Amino acid sequence: MQLHFYGGAKVVTGANYLIECGKTKVIVDCGMFQGSQELADLNYENFPYDPRKIDYVFITHSHLDHCGRLPKLIKDGFSGKIICTPPTKDLMAVALADSVHLLAEEAREKGREPLYLGKDLIKMLSLIKDYEYDQKVKLKAGLEFRIKDAGHILGSAMYELWLKEKNKKIKIVFTGDMGNPPTPLLKPTDKIDQADYLIIESAYGDRLHEPKKERKLKLERTIEDAITQKSVLLIPSFALERTQELLYELNDLVENNRIPRIPIFIDSPLAIKITEVYKKHQKYFNRKTRYIIDSGDDIFSFPGLNFTPTKQESKDIIKTPPPKIIIAGSGMSTGGRILFHEKEYLSDPNNCFLVIGFQVEGTLGRKILEGEPVVKILGSYVKNKAEIKAIGGYSAHADQKQLINFIKKIKKPLKKVFVVQGEKKAAEALKNLIIEKLQIPAQVPKYEQVIEL
Ligand SMILES: [Zn+2]
Repeated sequence: MQLHFYGGAKVVTGANYLIECGKTKVIVDCGMFQGSQELADLNYENFPYDPRKIDYVFITHSHLDHCGRLPKLIKDGFSGKIICTPPTKDLMAVALADSVHLLAEEAREKGREPLYLGKDLIKMLSLIKDYEYDQKVKLKAGLEFRIKDAGHILGSAMYELWLKEKNKKIKIVFTGDMGNPPTPLLKPTDKIDQADYLIIESAYGDRLHEPKKERKLKLERTIEDAITQKSVLLIPSFALERTQELLYELNDLVENNRIPRIPIFIDSPLAIKITEVYKKHQKYFNRKTRYIIDSGDDIFSFPGLNFTPTKQESKDIIKTPPPKIIIAGSGMSTGGRILFHEKEYLSDPNNCFLVIGFQVEGTLGRKILEGEPVVKILGSYVKNKAEIKAIGGYSAHADQKQLINFIKKIKKPLKKVFVVQGEKKAAEALKNLIIEKLQIPAQVPKYEQVIEL
């Protein structure tokens, strides 16, 4: 039995793992490389294996760094079965369809073939077989699996795989991305009772999160200030999970009369479509939130909330006098409708720019957050004069302590832990801690490394 690391190895993105067990070939995740141009170009290269010979693909969740190259795998000849949860199936359909026109545009600019076409995506969706959490499923002789809840975003999965080849039987677990419970909507990350090998993420392998307690209070105060100062509150937000979490908290503040009524705009076609998927799959929410829903409260609808899917509705937001809140993508201001609002409102010191997510170096969001006096937005130079606020504690990833506690609860002996999906520093820090503190062999695999299991 062999395990190959083709992505997520010493980088955060591009998760892609291949297991060979006898004649069976299984892939876990087929993510896009994201970040630098160099990484983005990797997406266009041929897969290091023959997609036609792969039998099954397991997808942990619908973030593009875990599923973004899946339509390309189909374009390159894969015709096996794709396995994921029902919410992941619907979220992938929305998120990947959203990328089709962006990829076509990028291909035109660069004079190359698009990464994939709409028809590849349609075929991809026809190959999906969705499974619920906690069922043990036998796919064929020598290959069984069970999905556990990763608590990272809606539908996120950890895979337990039982593999058998001749007399050798092993259990291998892939965590995908792991959540940071408690969260407003999701159930906590499941425990894993036993494993021979564990492949664990490490995005926050060297860091601890800020406490969450203060988060809602800070949000409440920020909105109250916006109302008193009659200002425009801009919140760049990721369309998937972050925006729905924010809606949950805003719904709670409004319905419990903690804040006065104020116009709130969700100005992102993608976030609006994703919110529809969340509404469809409410049975996957945690107990508290399901209780709220069962008692008759639609958490994605409250007085003052406006969804603005069309361009005209988006343009008309300007007609609503302040105070008002505009939530739009992208989460790091690298594109999307937030740019139009930043261009309009950032130069007024009475307005407020609220950061609720990590801003990668070099992004516009980071430049605004760090107070660069003038920033370039949509070709114009805009004075960065609005008040800048940041609320931490919104991370969707487990931190170092949560990762270590997760591993600690797995029955020994755990033969080896492979630390992936983190920058080098984060992955190495977690690996060292696993070896020193838990006395479990651990390794940070290299790109294209092959491990004999
Ligand atoms: Zn993720």
